[in-house]
Amino acid sequence: MHIQVAIIGAGPAGLLLARVLELAGIETAVLERRTPDYLRQRIRAGLLEQGTVDFLSEVGVAARLKRERLIHQGVKLAFGGKRVRIDLEGLAGRAVSIYGQAEIQKDLMDAHAGAGTTIIYEAQDVSLHGLTDSTPRVRYRQNGLTHEMACDFIAGCDGFHGVSRQAIPQEVISTYERVYPFAWLGLLSDTRPVNDELIYVNHERGFALCTMRSRTRSRYYLQVSAHEDIEDWSDDRFWTELKRRLPRDAARGLETGPSIEKSIAPLRSFVAEPLRYGRLFLAGDAAHIVPPTGAKGLNLAVADVRYLSRALIAYYRSGRTDLTDAYSETCLARVWKAQRFSWWMTNLTHRFPEASPFERRAQAAELAYLEGSRAAQTVLAENYVGLPLSE
Ligand SMILES: Cc1cc2nc3c(=O)[nH]c(=O)nc-3n(C[C@H](O)[C@H](O)[C@H](O)COP(=O)(O)OP(=O)(O)OC[C@H]3O[C@@H](n4cnc5c(N)ncnc54)[C@H](O)[C@@H]3O)c2cc1C
Repeated sequence: MHIQVAIIGAGPAGLLLARVLELAGIETAVLERRTPDYLRQRIRAGLLEQGTVDFLSEVGVAARLKRERLIHQGVKLAFGGKRVRIDLEGLAGRAVSIYGQAEIQKDLMDAHAGAGTTIIYEAQDVSLHGLTDSTPRVRYRQNGLTHEMACDFIAGCDGFHGVSRQAIPQEVISTYERVYPFAWLGLLSDTRPVNDELIYVNHERGFALCTMRSRTRSRYYLQVSAHEDIEDWSDDRFWTELKRRLPRDAARGLETGPSIEKSIAPLRSFVAEPLRYGRLFLAGDAAHIVPPTGAKGLNLAVADVRYLSRALIAYYRSGRTDLTDAYSETCLARVWKAQRFSWWMTNLTHRFPEASPFERRAQAAELAYLEGSRAAQTVLAENYVGLPLSE
């Protein structure tokens, strides 16, 4: 079997890339180790930059998103008994959209099912071969049989724990990493959101975030220790702790209910460079991870796909290699700015266990500066709504 582009991973990056390439007449096959049901139910991100919405719209997978999303023109920060609203629309000229990643996953899967894209689910032991040859190969097992697929290019869209990045020899890849000394405990519930915008809370007991997936479905997060056990967190304990960290009026208005999902995610900043090795290109979480504080992970994955699809389409339409050659550098320039912002937002809003009294006072001063400075709020807003993509 020979196809033009083999895509490893059917998360948002892999499925979106397949969609753009298929629309351009480029033949793809997607290999995914999980089942479709698992992918449809995976709860993750929920905040989309306008650039992400525009791109999903361009490739015809945003009809439901545009009907069901919530548009947020601002975001709130609560600290030291105060609340500051960052006017995203007023300061940066753009709003953000709330729409769950699981919904995007479903929309992409439905579009592919309609178009007849080759997606091989439950592909086991995927391995990559001949990456610097003109015809690299992907091998996998399914139903006890080993299959091999030859292709022109491989797109590694298989997330942080995937095999694609691991297939690049150690001596040609550099990694940059910051592991944070805490995690996020998330709870999803069919309850009315406590506020019509997101609230980021910096509290002495730790960070909290009030976010949502719809007008009737809320997502809340608590900063917890990196070694916390989910079994120790009953719903009651979660709600009690959240109320302690929220501003008083929000705590009073908080609607609680049984959790639909509860999970703990460690926080990490990570970048692998370069994003290309021979005929393999990395995109999305396979190449970089951000702490979710800045809501950038999914948006970065979509931006990578935008650059990569443009480069591959230019190659197939006119034999151009300048865009594939520039892919890594072009993506990384924007990835590092999002890394900086996500790291900064995390430092601003979380309580670091090892912070010295000096560092705590400096953090409080930074929040106070943000409260009083339109310039500081504009910097936050500009990054939060998403930096422009280079042409
Ligand atoms: C628990 C959690 C919570 C998050 N919350 C937020 C948030 O609130 N806001 C935000 O912006 N971002 C958040 N993120 C980040 C965001 O969800 C990711 O950035 C986004 O999913 C990246 O998409 P992707 O397609 O690159 O990778 P993924 O979504 O990870 O998709 C990779 C796919 O590859 C498949 N795969 C892996 N290994 C193999 C293999 N060997 N063979 C075949 N297939 C393989 C996986 O099953 C998966 O389907 C969160 C991430 C996690 C893990």
